[in-house]
Amino acid sequence: MHIGIVGSGVVGMQTAWHLRLRGHRVTIFDPDPGNGATRAAAGMLAPISEVQFGQQGLYPLMLAARREYPQLIAQLERVTDRPHGYLENGTLLVAADRADSARAADHARVQTEYGMETRSLSASRLLDMEPGLNPRLAGGFEAPTDQQVDPRLLLEALRAALVHDLDPTGFAHAGPSAAWIMESVSRIDPVGDRTAGYDVTAGDSGPHRVDRVLVACGVNYGRIGGVLDRLPLDLRPVYGDILRLKLREGQLAPGEKHVVNATIRATVLGRQVYLVPRADGGLVIGASVREDNLPGVNAGCVQELLEDAVTVVPGVRDMELVEAMARARPGTPDDIPYVGPVPGAPGVVVSTGYSRHGILLAPLGARLGADLLTGASLSNADARLLETMDPGRFGAHTDMAQARLTGGIPA
Ligand SMILES: Cc1cc2nc3c(=O)[nH]c(=O)nc-3n(C[C@H](O)[C@H](O)[C@H](O)COP(=O)(O)OP(=O)(O)OC[C@H]3O[C@@H](n4cnc5c(N)ncnc54)[C@H](O)[C@@H]3O)c2cc1C
Repeated sequence: MHIGIVGSGVVGMQTAWHLRLRGHRVTIFDPDPGNGATRAAAGMLAPISEVQFGQQGLYPLMLAARREYPQLIAQLERVTDRPHGYLENGTLLVAADRADSARAADHARVQTEYGMETRSLSASRLLDMEPGLNPRLAGGFEAPTDQQVDPRLLLEALRAALVHDLDPTGFAHAGPSAAWIMESVSRIDPVGDRTAGYDVTAGDSGPHRVDRVLVACGVNYGRIGGVLDRLPLDLRPVYGDILRLKLREGQLAPGEKHVVNATIRATVLGRQVYLVPRADGGLVIGASVREDNLPGVNAGCVQELLEDAVTVVPGVRDMELVEAMARARPGTPDDIPYVGPVPGAPGVVVSTGYSRHGILLAPLGARLGADLLTGASLSNADARLLETMDPGRFGAHTDMAQARLTGGIPA
């Protein structure tokens, strides 16, 4: 089949990869590839440290998605030598004072209750593990299986994998190289009696005829007309400010590799901050969460991020600040994505609303989105995960029940 993908963020690109591996031809529409929320993201793959109270529906999705990353990375390494930034450096959850420590302990109780692995660490043990931490921290927890990927590098590696010729011994059923159309999609309309495919109107170059369509344009979902009018979604921009720093020449003492080696997630005066060290000496500090309709960087958030980061890792003060960026997360009321068919439009699947966890959740959403598009049969476990992500869960009618019965969407 020829499948149109609207949006080439982490979700569209990973879904395109699944579809190519299954033998389909993909055309990707995006006026500004990779420059949405994915460009800002820190890339934490952190189902354990991302646990929030009252978000139990999200935990199984996050844990399942985390398990799918190593396979994606192994596939990419077989196809391209481009770096992806996947790094198993673990995560430490630290608290600045005793009140922060009590909050961290509450979190750890929820994590343990749901079978997640965390270990309590005294302040002195923390310092043994990470000498770059502030010696006055109150203590913390270790989440050794929470890792990271570099979303910008990952997109470049996926792009290479989508256009390279694939070795037929390893990828016998793969489809042709993907094509890109660097235009914004404005409409998706059925051709004739609906089974003849869809016309995708993109900029001045449309319409483009495809058999099926995946809609993965993040927070811009509501701007596309045609069949998507049948599935209005509750989706709002949740802005995040994030900083990128690098080590200064001669900043480290002999033998030191970085200011910290594990990802650090900290609570400072009740505020959350994280520090994600990259293998190349970069450091990502994030992220604010705001719904104030300011698409640009908020000065106050930058100040708080830097202050809190320096409180936790004093060496941050000496680093070079190379970038401050803000992007909108595609936010849903429960932080759970929308993955499912559009009612009355067989062959059109929505995959958006990944909120704060899109890098982590992408392999799962991409695999299940590809299953729905191609009519693959679903295991009971996958059907349950899709039910959680039903775009109709807040009232809109969807074809999800039918998808469950027939295995994938009706042809
Ligand atoms: C500051 C910050 C930090 C984050 N950190 C993490 C993290 O550590 N871990 C994690 O798991 N998640 C994180 N996230 C969340 C994550 O970035 C998002 O959930 C994820 O990137 C969403 O991916 P997406 O592909 O759905 O959307 P996007 O990355 O926004 O991609 C959508 C694409 O669609 C294109 N597009 C839009 N409209 C159209 C149209 N009409 N036609 C064609 N193309 C269109 C855009 O140009 C864009 O390229 C973070 C987000 C932010 C903002």
